[in-house]
Amino acid sequence: MTISLDNYQPAAQLLEDRIVLVTGAGEGIGKAAALAYAAHGATVILAGRTVAKLEQVYDLIEKTGYPQPSIYPVDLNGAGEDDFNALRDTLEVQFGRLDGLLHNAGELGERTPIANYSLSSWVKVMNVNVTAQFLLTKALLPVLEKSRDAAIIFTSSSVGRKGRAFWGAYAVSKFATEGLSQVLADELDGVSNIRVNCLNPGATRTQMRAKAYPAEDPRTLKSPEQIMAAYLFLMGADSKGINGQSLDAQ
Ligand code: NDP
Repeated sequence: MTISLDNYQPAAQLLEDRIVLVTGAGEGIGKAAALAYAAHGATVILAGRTVAKLEQVYDLIEKTGYPQPSIYPVDLNGAGEDDFNALRDTLEVQFGRLDGLLHNAGELGERTPIANYSLSSWVKVMNVNVTAQFLLTKALLPVLEKSRDAAIIFTSSSVGRKGRAFWGAYAVSKFATEGLSQVLADELDGVSNIRVNCLNPGATRTQMRAKAYPAEDPRTLKSPEQIMAAYLFLMGADSKGINGQSLDAQ
C-alpha cells in the first residue's frame, strides 16, 4: 500500500478528547510528537526516563494552554510486567481508556561489528527497543480496547528493513519492531478498534542521530517538528482502516 502524506493537512482538533501515551517524550522526536499531539487536542501522557525533561515538556504544554498532560516516569530498561500493569491501572483510574500509544523511546547501543558487539549493549538495546514495547503493548491492550478508535504506532528505522554493517542490535531490534507490529496488526485485524502501524522517521536532527553520525552537519537534517505529519496521520481518525503498514515520515 502506498500512502502519500505530502499534502496531508491535519485538522486543528484532530486529536480532541483523545488520551495518547508517548514513550521517550522528553527529548527529540518523542518531545515533538507529544507537543504536536497536545497542539491537536490530545491529553498526552508523557512517559520516559528523565523526569526533569518530561517536566520541561509538561510546562511547555501547560504554558501554551493545550490540554493538561500527565507525567509517567518509567525506565524501559528493566521495567517488568508489574510496572507496566501498574501504568495500565493508573490510566484506567485516571482516564478509563487509552486512544493512542506511540512507541518512540529507543536505545542506539554500540556501533560496532557483530564480532565485537558486547552482550551488555545487546541486552540493553533489545530490552528497551523490543521487550519493553511488547510488555507495554500487552499491558495496555485492555485500555486501548476501551477506546472507540485507537492507534498504536511503533517506531522503525531504515536499518530495520535492510540490515547494515555496524548497526548491531539496533538494526535487529528494529526488524523485531516491524515484526511485532505486523503480528499484532494481523491479530487485531477485523476484531478490534485498534489499528497498528510502524513508522520510520528517517534521518532527523536529534541527539541519537548525532551520536550515530558524529561527522554529519545537523543543519542538513529535518527537525523533529518537520516530520510530524505522519505521526499525526497515524494517530488520528484520518488513518482509520490503515493497519499493519510500515510508513516513512519523510
Ligand atoms: P533521542 O535520543 O533524541 O530520544 C530518545 C528518547 O528515548 C529519549 O527521550 C530517551 O529518554 C528515551 N529513552 C531512551 N532509553 C530509555 C529508557 N531506557 N527508558 C525510557 N526512555 C528511554 O532519539 P530520537 O528522537 O532520535 O529517536 C526516537 C525514535 O526514533 C527511536 O526509536 C529511534 O530509534 C527512532 N529513529 C530515529 C531516527 C533519527 O534520525 N533521529 C532515525 C530512525 C529511527 P532520555 O531523555 O531519558 O534519554
